[in-house]
Amino acid sequence: RNQTELAALRDELTSINHTLQLMALADGLTGLANRRQFDLFLSQSLKASAISQKPVSLIMLDIDFFKRYNDFYGHVAGDTCLRTVGEIIQKLKLRNNDLIARYGGEEFAVIFTAEHIAESAALLELWRINVANRTWREEGLHVTFSAGLGEWHMETLDHLVSSVDEALYRAKRQGKNRIERTSEA
Ligand code: GH3
Ligand code: MG
Ligand code: MG
Repeated sequence: RNQTELAALRDELTSINHTLQLMALADGLTGLANRRQFDLFLSQSLKASAISQKPVSLIMLDIDFFKRYNDFYGHVAGDTCLRTVGEIIQKLKLRNNDLIARYGGEEFAVIFTAEHIAESAALLELWRINVANRTWREEGLHVTFSAGLGEWHMETLDHLVSSVDEALYRAKRQGKNRIERTSEA
């Protein structure tokens, strides 16, 4: 009897462990990958890309004027907005091995193994239009995002992230609700 109980307990522990592992990689609010999973997946993707010679695109996107949205509608509505943006992106992703993560706050990051950067750019534009054209609240503010897009060219991982981030901030400076590419892309 002890043996059976022990085996059952072990199974239970294994299952709890599995759940914990999944939780440690998921963002609690949106259910998307969290920052930790993003970091792991990005370094793996770059290694795989160096071998396969297939490009990796990185997208960083940031919701525009999100503080204003929160101040106006409150944080509960703000949370719903974040979940909805995540859903719109998730629904329109192309391949199963692309990763969509909540990078932090109102920022999302996407790792995209497209055949060519033009494909990532087209998808990103589709997301932008879908988010911008959605009616969020009856008399509400519109929700838009700005994004940076870059392709990995064997530079360091940090350089890739910082150049995409730089492109994102260029999109902000140039008026928001737009997409900018890195100089390499
Ligand atoms: P910009 O157009 O330049 O991106 O400005 P912004 O207002 O979007 O950016 P800012 O960094 O000033 O504000 C981001 C806001 O996002 C502030 C914070 O309250 C809100 N925020 C971050 N995380 C969450 C969250 O999990 N839930 C909610 N509701 N709000 C969040
Ligand atoms: Mg931000
Ligand atoms: Mg913002």
